[in-house]
Amino acid sequence: MQGLGLNIGLNSRRALTSAKSYKSINKQTAFERYFLLKVPKARFFVSKNVNLYYHVCVLFSEYFPAEYADGILNNSAYRQQHEHLKTESLHQKFQNLWQYSYYAWDFVGKSLSEADTMSSTKETLVRASQDQMDIWLQILSEALPSYEPIWSGIEGKLEEYKARFEAEWNAIHETVLTKMSKIAKLPWKTEHLNVHFVDCVYGAQSWVEDVVVPPFPDIDIEKKLLSHEIAHTLVPDYFLKTKLQKFNLDCSIAHTIVDLIAYFGVKEHVTDPERRGIKPNPNYYAEVSKLYPIFEDYYKNLVQYQKFDDILKQISERSKDKEGQH
Ligand SMILES: [Zn+2]
Repeated sequence: MQGLGLNIGLNSRRALTSAKSYKSINKQTAFERYFLLKVPKARFFVSKNVNLYYHVCVLFSEYFPAEYADGILNNSAYRQQHEHLKTESLHQKFQNLWQYSYYAWDFVGKSLSEADTMSSTKETLVRASQDQMDIWLQILSEALPSYEPIWSGIEGKLEEYKARFEAEWNAIHETVLTKMSKIAKLPWKTEHLNVHFVDCVYGAQSWVEDVVVPPFPDIDIEKKLLSHEIAHTLVPDYFLKTKLQKFNLDCSIAHTIVDLIAYFGVKEHVTDPERRGIKPNPNYYAEVSKLYPIFEDYYKNLVQYQKFDDILKQISERSKDKEGQH
């Protein structure tokens, strides 16, 4: 299975170049080379501090917005198990944080209500961000002693999992990322992807070049989970939503598109691509039944498409066809 993606890539390149003029051959080759050139290097970590951070966030998930409380922090079994660590003092600190918005951009706007000149704006923002960081430091240092025994119980298991997964992932990393970049017709913009294993999170999360994943017992599901998060870093939300708006498409399909890019990127490297947890789940992702065949077709004919817009155009046209039939 290993290397299959690269073979497809090279064949596609040959097919593509034979059909083009000399000028565009040079252009296309450079374009294709750009994609094949470099994928970000994956680095895997088991960090006590990152685990401690998510430990307190999961315990105090009620202070976070629904997107987090019902998402990555939604580990109720973990919360119940460590309920006694939710001290009054830590509650108080989260309530102090509550004075600021969880979302950094909101807190900027909120803090500025008292500022009337640029210098008082600067003072206010520096103070507001410093205050928040101070509270966070207090929370982490207060939670650390009671986290020590939990950490000693999980560190070894996380390290073991990291070693097992890293070996499997490194064998497919380049192929999967090259394929995803060819599907999205986008180059990788970061040099590294930092993957953190965190034992208490429910689901995974990514931001620019950092990914947080739980150590899922099934390695194939972990491969898909990580591919999904990596696909988010390739196709940032703002970029995809701007494109969807351009084609008058509903932004609710953005997450489905990310999952389909991940799925077709990794499907040849899992034992059963049809199974639950691997194939995009229509109960969770919007319009899977409509988008899946379009992506499948696109995946089989990657060389025929020049831009990612081509696939969005198709989705938009098929939506119009459907509307026309009503
Ligand atoms: Zn996602």
